[in-house]
Amino acid sequence: MPTTQKEIHLANRPKGMPTNDDFEFVQQDIPSLEENQVLLRTLYLSVDPYMRGRMQDTKSYIAPFQLHKAIVGGGIAEVAESRSDKFKQGDIVTGSLKWAEYSRISDQKIRKIDPAAAPITTHLGILGMTGLTAYFGLLDIGKPQTGETVVVSGAAGAVGSVVGQIAKIKGARVVGIAGSDEKTAFLKDELGFDEALNYKKDTFAADLANALPDGVDVYFDNVGGPVTDEVFKLLNTNARIPLCGAISSYNKEEDLGPRLQSYMIKTSALMKGFTVGNYAADFESGSKQLAAWLQEGKLKYEETIVEGFENTPDAFLDLFKGTNVGKLLVKVAEPEYAKL
Ligand code: NDP
Repeated sequence: MPTTQKEIHLANRPKGMPTNDDFEFVQQDIPSLEENQVLLRTLYLSVDPYMRGRMQDTKSYIAPFQLHKAIVGGGIAEVAESRSDKFKQGDIVTGSLKWAEYSRISDQKIRKIDPAAAPITTHLGILGMTGLTAYFGLLDIGKPQTGETVVVSGAAGAVGSVVGQIAKIKGARVVGIAGSDEKTAFLKDELGFDEALNYKKDTFAADLANALPDGVDVYFDNVGGPVTDEVFKLLNTNARIPLCGAISSYNKEEDLGPRLQSYMIKTSALMKGFTVGNYAADFESGSKQLAAWLQEGKLKYEETIVEGFENTPDAFLDLFKGTNVGKLLVKVAEPEYAKL
């Protein structure tokens, strides 16, 4: 067992697009355990767009990261040492973990996962936060009906790729929007989307109108900005819009102004903001349904795995460059104590 380990701290509150200088690697002693604590050896860290918001010191639904303290996010770890009767060495767990090679944590703050039931990384993606976001946002707010048209932006990402597939399960016609021809081919050929469009093409607005002769009944919005402006022009009356994310604006400093309201009024559309945490009481049933669809072959998932703890900040920055297909994860270590 090593005696020291590395953590990644927030060095600055980024202005605009974050850079590597906004992160600092800090060598720390591995702390000894108190009663009801375990020592975790990190195996995977999730990097997620919402973490950009936590880098700012602004009022939000979740507290900002503290400067010069470890960044915290979804992770998978193995128990390296335990002073808890709930966990033993080798257990695989998930929870909100420090960006750290090792971390000491209360046994109340982690949950055991069964590595035999599904690959452990699925708990950070399709069976975890992003899968549940797709599931609840689409079904509770979007309510897609057979024969309706569902459009999803950020379609090749962790949330979007699941949204489109669930909409297909519900009998909708699904059009995905993503940032490269490779991604649009993946959506059509691998995930069974009816149509997929590259928003970076000059012809995007015309392509979108051509792909949507019957308009848009459900728009699951992951990106906001210019992509959403084009989709809004095609909304049908009584369209539903699960407003999930607006990644196009996360690194913008300027005031973006009221863009959406006139479209909302014109179409009597329902737009409802939500966070996945609103559905916490139903997470278990949501995960069960997703796992069942996965087993039945109705859902597929893709992961982009970046190797090496030292590459965690770069992986986070990749989210804004669009290099990932499916869930973007960092592989920190191979299990040492767990048998997978
Ligand atoms: P993704 O796996 O979709 O990764 C981010 C993707 O966003 C990139 O791959 C890139 O794909 C796209 N992107 C980046 N910059 C832009 C831009 N300027 N315009 C359009 N697309 C861009 O991330 P997630 O699936 O984890 O998250 C998707 C969205 O959902 C985010 O906005 C996130 O904040 C939100 N979210 C909200 C939750 C909630 O509870 N409300 C929970 C989880 C996520 P491309 O190549 O297509 O550009």
